[in-house]
Amino acid sequence: MAVFSRLPTAIMIRTRFAPSPTGFLHIGGARTALFSWAYARHHSGAFILRVEDTDLARSTPDAVRAILDGMLWLGLTYDEGPFYQTQRMDRYRAVIQEMLAAGTAYHCYMAPEELDRLREEQRSQGVKPRYNGLWRPEPGKILPTPPAAVLPVVRFKNPRDGMVAWDDLVKGRIEIANGELDDLVIARADGTPTYNFCVVVDDRDMGITHVIRGDDHVNNTPRQINILRALGAPVPLYAHLSMILGDDGQKLSKRHGAVSVMQYDDEGYLPEAVLNYLARLGWSHGDDEIFSMQQFCEWFDLDHITPSAAQFNTEKLNWLNAHYLKRTDIARLTALVRPRLEARGLSVAGTPSLEAIIGLYRDRAANLNELADAAGIFYAHPEVPTRLLEKHLTPEALPLLADFIAGLAEVAWEAPAIGALIKESVARHGMKMPKLAMPIRVLLTGQEQTPSVDALVALFPREEVLERLGKADDPRPSGIDPS
Ligand code: GLU
Repeated sequence: MAVFSRLPTAIMIRTRFAPSPTGFLHIGGARTALFSWAYARHHSGAFILRVEDTDLARSTPDAVRAILDGMLWLGLTYDEGPFYQTQRMDRYRAVIQEMLAAGTAYHCYMAPEELDRLREEQRSQGVKPRYNGLWRPEPGKILPTPPAAVLPVVRFKNPRDGMVAWDDLVKGRIEIANGELDDLVIARADGTPTYNFCVVVDDRDMGITHVIRGDDHVNNTPRQINILRALGAPVPLYAHLSMILGDDGQKLSKRHGAVSVMQYDDEGYLPEAVLNYLARLGWSHGDDEIFSMQQFCEWFDLDHITPSAAQFNTEKLNWLNAHYLKRTDIARLTALVRPRLEARGLSVAGTPSLEAIIGLYRDRAANLNELADAAGIFYAHPEVPTRLLEKHLTPEALPLLADFIAGLAEVAWEAPAIGALIKESVARHGMKMPKLAMPIRVLLTGQEQTPSVDALVALFPREEVLERLGKADDPRPSGIDPS
């Protein structure tokens, strides 16, 4: 049986991610990028990166870098770009000239003070402040003489009547009366094009078929559609994604901890965990929670995006991260953990090998920093908290430990033999396993929770174990009577 795609095959899907470089790549932006990317991948289309840097006061090179770094870290590869709007100014100016020539835009000489006055008056009369159309050309209308002292702005001649409507692929049909829309300024008095206009020219020039973006842009959409129509350009389909709320149901903000994608890297998350997590933020495929990006691209469509706000759940992200850590091969984890240790000033050369430590701890760690914490203990003897010494180096435990230490000199240096030695020592003293295992754990690592104690001991070099356990000779702070 023949299978037909929902979309005519002749249409090449083209999506874009169009961040403004005014800060880091935040979680909301990353999800928008992910959905745009996946939609293009699903349809074997093209995904474009466009940096919307026309707001010179707020755009910074650092923020551009942060966006590119974030995309790279997540593996959201783009087929075209990055394009920078600041490099396309000539193009925007040319389109403004075309529109002036075609009569779809006009010069407006209303001085800013005059406009302010007008708005003030409207407010005092209880009407919505808006431009009064003074300089808008109409058939048969005589326009005032342009004042010499005023540099004009260019306004778009928005249709006066009818509705502008679109079937939003997430939110459903949205309709706005044209009468609600002002004649938008598309070029300022100094000739620089304005935000909504640049977006329109770019979406047209870049042949964007699907605009997938945050729903903070819903209000811009009717204006953009009208300008596209005035240019005779095809109107793309729009999918406006609902916002992401923090764990507490409030708008996601810095207050919630990591909101920059790269901060997740700092905090020891794997990009595949973050991607998998983001994929499920407002989109679902049945009950599937864990899937690869390849699988996601195969499944992803715009029909299963929820129109309601998605709530961030850090616990779930942690759970996914632990899942991916367990499945990541040791060589890659080692490469990811090594710089974290080096950043703490620890030399990773020597024994035990970082690979071996990670092999032992991988299943217990929730993130890369926990792995680094665990590994750090092997390369620098940690301070053992007095509380733990007091708790575990009891008068009963000390002879047991001494017995075990004596056996260590001779034992074959591998976990089963060390395990057998522990069992023998415990049995000889008629004690239970934890009586010996806990002091060993605490003296070696400064912690009560470790992997199995025989494997832990075997991982250290013999001399290091003797050295650390040797501290048991007089481990108690002065003033405490061991008897
Ligand atoms: N530059 C806008 C932003 O960062 C996105 C514009 C768009 O996607 O149309 O919010």
